[in-house]
Amino acid sequence: MDYDRNNVFARILRGEIPCKKVFEDDHVLAFHDINPQAPVHVLVIPKGAYVSFDDFSAKAAPAEVVALVRAVGAIARSLGLADPGYRILANHGRDSHQEVPHFHIHIFAGRPLGRMLERA
Ligand code: 5GP
Repeated sequence: MDYDRNNVFARILRGEIPCKKVFEDDHVLAFHDINPQAPVHVLVIPKGAYVSFDDFSAKAAPAEVVALVRAVGAIARSLGLADPGYRILANHGRDSHQEVPHFHIHIFAGRPLGRMLERA
């Protein structure tokens, strides 16, 4: 799948759509989800143009991978989530119901999060 430069997260990165920013560095932006599924629901995205985890894991430079992973951990710690805990999730493709075609990691926390997956 080609990267869509007009997807909503690309527009947030260009400052065309506002976001409630949590964290930013050279490679990463993080912000609160507009439709939170838990008391804490943060999205962590690379600034590079990657469609999904599949794309990012294959093509991102090592510095981008390290920055994203470090950012997720640092954000979770800064929000006080390491204890009692949190869940990270990244959807890729149709079966996962990925809606926005710019790679993002969800951080969920703030209540017991229940089962890992919906029953089939
Ligand atoms: P996906 O299903 O692609 O893994 O998750 C996309 C997420 O992006 C959803 O949780 C949705 O609520 C969030 N989202 C969609 N549009 C916007 C937006 O304009 N701003 C923010 N902050 N989140 C958005």
